[in-house]
Amino acid sequence: MPHSLLVVGSIAFDTIRTPFGEAPEVLGGSATYFSVAASFFSPVRLVGVVGEDFPQEYIKVLADRRIDTAGLQCVAGGRTFRWRGSYQGAMNEATTEDVQLNVFGDFRPTLPGRWRGTKVVFLANGSPVTQGAVLDQVTGPALVVADTMNLWIDTARPALIALLARVDGLVLNDGEARMLAAEDNLLAAAHKVLGLGPRFVVIKKGEHGAILVSREVAGKPAALPRGVSAAGVPLAACSQCVTPGALADKPPVAPDTVRIAVLPAFPSTAVRDPTGAGDSFAGGALGYLAGRGRYDFSTLVRALAYGTVTASFTIEDFGLRRLDRLTRTEIDARLGQYRAMLKV
Ligand code: AMP
Repeated sequence: MPHSLLVVGSIAFDTIRTPFGEAPEVLGGSATYFSVAASFFSPVRLVGVVGEDFPQEYIKVLADRRIDTAGLQCVAGGRTFRWRGSYQGAMNEATTEDVQLNVFGDFRPTLPGRWRGTKVVFLANGSPVTQGAVLDQVTGPALVVADTMNLWIDTARPALIALLARVDGLVLNDGEARMLAAEDNLLAAAHKVLGLGPRFVVIKKGEHGAILVSREVAGKPAALPRGVSAAGVPLAACSQCVTPGALADKPPVAPDTVRIAVLPAFPSTAVRDPTGAGDSFAGGALGYLAGRGRYDFSTLVRALAYGTVTASFTIEDFGLRRLDRLTRTEIDARLGQYRAMLKV
């Protein structure tokens, strides 16, 4: 049975520069990319904040899809979040040139009452304090997945680590995983992150795809509850492990309790703007999962394949342009090509 899906994160004006051109002040943000991508698979409940400068026509772009904007706050007299970034060379990583948090900085989300029972929750890139405030308002979710980035690992590590004991999954890129775990080897970093509570971690590697590492109990795929260590020890006391050193000292998860899937990126020569790749990867994946209403390992792998393919469209044009004209038929056709490519 399909489950309801909610996302909280940034809604932004992005200014983007890549070797293929520039896009000034276009609609972006982690929650925006996520919602648009997920809407190909499932209706979406969007929680976010914008300022008075946010045009009504952008709200219509979202509402015209299956995106419910009842959780969108508009701050009178406020300015919308702004991000300016550029990409060079293989464009694997954005260089952030400017971030103006504006109304997103002190955003305290309030969920419409009827959304409190949402089953699948995605905490898109944003302050872990804001992410946690959303979780405080949700009762009995089936799946909670968080994204994060270097800014929050740097400036809000204690809140981020406390949050990890409350989520089922964490999505982050390779550099961030190494930074969070203070560990260069990616698999070892994943084990350390799993030691903090999530049942699975997805590490994104840009043009090199993604790796899923999941804690499993033999014969019971993906049955571990969030916030419990591989040894079955509750991690509720995780506020004790809030210093960077404490994370480095935590014992990694025993390798034999872990399952791994490695997913390449969909190969393409048409990469123009990678902005939103990570969020549309997550949107495709969680949209698919919510649509299925099941979260076992093999459904998770299929979901990540959908996420990979959805993101491969996002990066073909600037901002949201390619997702705007994308169809589910195109996604399914490319998934077919992707699966054929993986027959080894
Ligand atoms: P990605 O999917 O990783 O390429 O994310 C791109 C989006 O993240 C852009 O549309 C930005 O507006 C947004 N973004 C950048 N920095 C932040 C931040 N510190 N917090 C939340 N969202 C951000």
